[in-house]
Amino acid sequence: MKISPLREQFSTLVGDHFEVWISEGWLALVTEALTRLLKEQGIAPALRVDQIKQKWGKLCINGEAFTERALAIAEEVADSSSRICEICGAQGEPIKNSRGWVIAVRCVKHFDAREILVPDESHERARDLQFDSAVPK
Ligand SMILES: [Zn+2]
Repeated sequence: MKISPLREQFSTLVGDHFEVWISEGWLALVTEALTRLLKEQGIAPALRVDQIKQKWGKLCINGEAFTERALAIAEEVADSSSRICEICGAQGEPIKNSRGWVIAVRCVKHFDAREILVPDESHERARDLQFDSAVPK
């Protein structure tokens, strides 16, 4: 996913090292979260967002100087993300790997074992989310 539009739209909110590690299906959710956090930044100017990623099948927003309300926004969005397909944004279900860990959220159409993947953060920053394959049971 290209992050430069987000960087431009939320320039006062995102830090210099802003990273995004998600697929397109969650873009609307991310935009909504950043819009709400930007509003909160009006009250808490030190508020920053440094990283947005998928962790255990949930949208995870990391940053600095999060207020209670900002934490609540992040939590609410994480909760919503667990029911939204990461690929297309349709209604989805958490997908577990063979160890029982939620590694993805997918709709019926995108539920394909060959596509159930885990992020590999060793890849270059600010590129599309990269995956290693992990076949679930
Ligand atoms: Zn889908």
